[in-house]
Amino acid sequence: MKNATWDVFIAGAGPAGAATALSLAAVAPELRVCLAGAGRFDPFRVGESVPPLIQRFLDHLGVWQAFVDEGHCPSFRTLSAWGGPVLEGNEFFLHVHKTGWRLDRGRFDLWLAAEAERRGALPLTAKVRALAPEGEGWRIDCGDSGIHRARCAVDATGHAALLARLAGLAPVNHDRLVACVGFFPDMGGTDRPGADAALIEAFGDGWWYTAATPSGQRVVALMTDSDVVGRLGASRLETWLKHLQATRHVRVLVDVSRPLAPLRLWPAASRRLDGPFRAGLIPVGDAVSSFDPLSSQGIIKALRSGIFASYAIADWLLRADGGQGFSRYTVLMRREFTAYRETLRNYYRLEQRWPNALFWRRRHLDSP
Ligand SMILES: Cc1cc2nc3c(=O)[nH]c(=O)nc-3n(C[C@H](O)[C@H](O)[C@H](O)COP(=O)(O)OP(=O)(O)OC[C@H]3O[C@@H](n4cnc5c(N)ncnc54)[C@H](O)[C@@H]3O)c2cc1C
Repeated sequence: MKNATWDVFIAGAGPAGAATALSLAAVAPELRVCLAGAGRFDPFRVGESVPPLIQRFLDHLGVWQAFVDEGHCPSFRTLSAWGGPVLEGNEFFLHVHKTGWRLDRGRFDLWLAAEAERRGALPLTAKVRALAPEGEGWRIDCGDSGIHRARCAVDATGHAALLARLAGLAPVNHDRLVACVGFFPDMGGTDRPGADAALIEAFGDGWWYTAATPSGQRVVALMTDSDVVGRLGASRLETWLKHLQATRHVRVLVDVSRPLAPLRLWPAASRRLDGPFRAGLIPVGDAVSSFDPLSSQGIIKALRSGIFASYAIADWLLRADGGQGFSRYTVLMRREFTAYRETLRNYYRLEQRWPNALFWRRRHLDSP
């Protein structure tokens, strides 16, 4: 499939790219859609906890039952020591859809992309390198995987926001949050509080979270600001482990004797793409905005943006709406981010135990 021409070229086969392809298959099946992914499977991934609301999006995309059959771990609450030292539960039975999930994230992404392919999206193993306007559409350079042309390009490259950057748009960071993440074997059992739920614990320089995944891993993340990492020594396993030992709730869930992979650092700042999106080039998922992992909203936000983007694309390519759908999408993404920032601010203000610590002071002083 080297040097092909498409109606829609989706760069990035994560949740946002796959959701865009799945939704396009439903609303505009006549379009020729390419779903291009880097084709790597990474067994050590973050982004594993999803709230009950995911059911609504997967249902809408027509893949809910297939998701249930995949055997991810149902989850019935989150636990947090936030605003005080004692763990408190947020029970999902109060939600309309009562079950959240802890995902085997690598497998989830592959499965969703495969569902999109089953509905007609054509897969391409490719790393997009360059993008340039050409005629009414785009010329996309995929290196060894050829030169592709498309009337519409979707940037689903996640944090890289590669296509948007190549088109001159700049993501704007709203904070400096990073994740220092360790992967351990899960100790199993459900007798310890938090063993079967995502658990969050605040500390003076940030917060921790941990969750066990269906593949028997336990993800453990220290979340702090990039300029605090050095002072804490949080990027070195020995010092990271010392900080872990100082926690009250997280440490009892982790068998530190056998790390499964070296410590990894992930950018986790709240971020939004700045500038007007150009008709015919549409960013989705983390490429358009990234949410603080505290929200556990990244995946459902990625699915939602993919669905909305597909409507704008169909209006543009099939109904020649002159780009009105893209404008509506831009406004929607901006409003979504504003509402999210307000909720996040309120949530950080609930934690007042370290008013003088830089990490918390930044979040308490943060204004709209
Ligand atoms: C520490 C941490 C914890 C998190 N925890 C959660 C959580 O518990 N729950 C939750 O819902 N969210 C969580 N998130 C956020 C969540 O992981 C993201 O919001 C989500 O993955 C966004 O999906 P996406 O499809 O936009 O991007 P991604 O999942 O990043 O997918 C982008 C895809 O594009 C591909 N790609 C990149 N560049 C190219 C290229 N040049 N050519 C082709 N392909 C390319 C990548 O390989 C990847 O497959 C967390 C994030 C972090 C950092």
